[in-house]
Amino acid sequence: MHDCIFCKIAKGEIKSEIVDESNNFLAFYDINPKTAGHTLIIPKKHFVTLLDIPSNLGEELLSFTKHISGFLLEKKFGDGFNILMNNLPPAGQVVMHAHIHILPRKESDNVEPVD
Ligand code: AMP
Repeated sequence: MHDCIFCKIAKGEIKSEIVDESNNFLAFYDINPKTAGHTLIIPKKHFVTLLDIPSNLGEELLSFTKHISGFLLEKKFGDGFNILMNNLPPAGQVVMHAHIHILPRKESDNVEPVD
């Protein structure tokens, strides 16, 4: 989609720190991390919210999310992790291209993942 920052990241038109990719999804580090290793997973195609992502991509999304979460734990960014998704502005979505946040967590890091 024209002027969507995450579409530009998916196409390599804007630089990002890519963690890994699958056929339909891309993982990259959040530019403004809430915790060390804060990672975003996006569909490579433009979908606005979870409701727009085709259900037949669900298995790939789950398996890729597990893969990235495991990688972040292996890299010792955290000893646990939160997964969250803001869908539409009342829920805090700022970038209108669907994305899942993975927040590696450490004991007593005092982070409140849901604002
Ligand atoms: P949300 O509030 O769920 O829409 O979150 C959007 C996230 O995208 C925020 O955590 C931002 O820090 C992150 N973000 C925005 N622009 C970029 C970028 N160019 N590269 C990486 N992360 C970004």
